[in-house]
Amino acid sequence: MNAAPPTTGVLADRYGRVARDLRVSLTDKCNLRCTYCMPAEGLPWLAGPDLLGDDEIVRLVGVAVRQLGVTEVRFTGGEPLIRPGLVGIVAAVAALDPRPRISLTTNGIGLDRLAPTLRAAGLDRVNVSLDTLAPERFARLTRRARLADVLAGLAGAAAAGLTPVKINSVLMRGVNDTEAPELLRFALAHGYELRFIEQMPLDAQHGWDRAAMVTADEILATLRAEFDLAPDPVERGAAPAETWLVDGGPARVGVIASVTRPFCGDCDRTRLTADGQVRACLFATEESDLRGALRAGADDDELAQRWRAAMWGKRAGHGIDDPAFLQPARPMSAIGG
Ligand code: SAM
Repeated sequence: MNAAPPTTGVLADRYGRVARDLRVSLTDKCNLRCTYCMPAEGLPWLAGPDLLGDDEIVRLVGVAVRQLGVTEVRFTGGEPLIRPGLVGIVAAVAALDPRPRISLTTNGIGLDRLAPTLRAAGLDRVNVSLDTLAPERFARLTRRARLADVLAGLAGAAAAGLTPVKINSVLMRGVNDTEAPELLRFALAHGYELRFIEQMPLDAQHGWDRAAMVTADEILATLRAEFDLAPDPVERGAAPAETWLVDGGPARVGVIASVTRPFCGDCDRTRLTADGQVRACLFATEESDLRGALRAGADDDELAQRWRAAMWGKRAGHGIDDPAFLQPARPMSAIGG
């Protein structure tokens, strides 16, 4: 095993994985306050000058795409739709050669208006987060009464061709865990692809409880009471979601079981935070500063090499099951989910 990172080529690590999927957080701010993510009062936001500017983001994504073999770029946050320069960033990334596939993870608020513009700028598809279809429950869970806006956002994304439109749902015991079949019926009726995400220890309040989380096995058992689920014949590859054909297909449902069925061995992700730090893993406790190097005048080769070195140090697994597991200091909203 080589001790030093490679000095050319892709984002490899010591375990033979190659990162091709880049998640870029555009802001740590959000217009919702999901109880499992952020406290009601919000968080101490990153200071404006610490945030990468639009040009800095495009430059770093360009390095990733041209020099490091990244083929997928996903914008996230915080809430990426509230970043003023979003459309311009998408257009500039779509103009890169080679052109990466571009997607967005969003809560959907405002997407009905923005979807056609984002599509025209080069966005390929979206993931919209939606944990409940009950308006009052939505308001309690997100601390904002915006369910109608999210549903409009979903419809707008589909109408604009940002397909397949995927829905991400986190189930919480005693909150919305009985809603899995209804969420799936809704997704099937509208042609959206639903994926349940196991709740992870990434909340700002450090309230995650392994014993209380709803597991993939429970989600599947609840769904199987109403639907026939057959293993998806399509190779999973590096996808975080394990998928099943619903009632014979072609519709699918997925579960991202990061906690109970970790998929670290196939992980192909690298992350860039809104303040320009590379993270090799959602759960990493170390980060590598690209913003400092970029602002100190580093050229693209040096930025690429710093990125390679950061990914070379990626750990074999996220270690949630290790008794010594430490939740990262940054919450999900500041990493980019
Ligand atoms: N604001 C955007 C959104 O709502 O999709 C993007 C950022 S949000 C952090 C990305 C995804 O992470 C959402 O689907 C959200 O439900 C999920 N998420 C947040 N905290 C989580 C946690 N502790 N465990 C699992 N998923 C979480």
